[in-house]
Amino acid sequence: MNTRKTRAFSFEFFPPKGDQGTDRLRDTIRHLAALKPQYVSVTFGAGGSTRDGTYQTARHIQKTTDLQVVPHLSCLGVSREALQETLERYRDLGVRRIVALRGDKPRGGHGGPPGPFKYANELVSFIRQFGGFSITVGCYPEFHPESPDPQSCMKNFARKVRAGADEAITQYFFSNEAYYTFVDNVHRLGVDVPIVAGLMPITDYQQIARFSTFCGADIPLWIRKRMEAFANDPASQKAFGIEIATRQAEDLLRQGAPGIHFYTLNKAEATLRIWKNLGLFPALKELAPVQASVS
Ligand code: FAD
Repeated sequence: MNTRKTRAFSFEFFPPKGDQGTDRLRDTIRHLAALKPQYVSVTFGAGGSTRDGTYQTARHIQKTTDLQVVPHLSCLGVSREALQETLERYRDLGVRRIVALRGDKPRGGHGGPPGPFKYANELVSFIRQFGGFSITVGCYPEFHPESPDPQSCMKNFARKVRAGADEAITQYFFSNEAYYTFVDNVHRLGVDVPIVAGLMPITDYQQIARFSTFCGADIPLWIRKRMEAFANDPASQKAFGIEIATRQAEDLLRQGAPGIHFYTLNKAEATLRIWKNLGLFPALKELAPVQASVS
């Protein structure tokens, strides 16, 4: 199967810390640039820790590659002036798309002043008014942890789209059924933008398990049990994670998902292997398809 021509693929990175992290990201970008994604995105640190890191990383990619770079921007605790200034800097850099988010509330209720915007739909309107950017937003097939119920979560997503989003990327999920049902339901609410599937290959189970508790993504029992059985065998854990993600991606593409956004965690290997397993990049001969039984 080669669906490369009709589907959009994108890769997500986070701003690296320290020399080692910077070197690793550069290496990752060099490998993944060969896959010619539609764009690569750079996350925005909650609490301001990596705000400048996002800009610096985006700038580096823009200046040193021919990749289209898409910075994430979140609005919680950020003034209008700071948002305006950030958008001006990105416009000057030649950025054409932004992933617009609210951002996570600081854990434990501590943090600075809340800022003028409470929700991402307000940031979307602000960016629309500023002009010049396509806008991508986040959405949640297994629902956002703060949402009181699925219906309000989907209505809030529809509100962001009405505010001017052109595309959405989902939080990662491991049950494709959750994605298909979500897409059907939000279509009924009038959402007609592409909903790109966010794919998180599990290469370190403990890390993803921790993160999933916080972001509300469900790891099905059959995956948890298999991963726990591989607790002392990181290579098998990784191989199994890549196999699951490959099967997920195959099914998503077959069922017509408009694209896949890879949460790379700044590492190239899983994405390269999935790409090869899918037959999207047959030239990568040096990587044998990963063998692991999902049954
Ligand atoms: P919103 O759409 O504002 O939703 C937040 C919550 O409020 C939801 O429960 C929603 O249902 C509810 N809500 C929304 N609007 C209203 C309203 N008008 N009235 C009442 N309730 C409402 N976080 C980062 O810090 N940096 C990143 O770079 C980053 N990248 C991400 C990329 C993707 C693709 C995704 C899916 C998430 C990303 N996140 C990132 C996480 C995100 O910031 C958190 O999930 C955050 O808690 C919600 O952001 P949002 O933009 O979806 O918020």
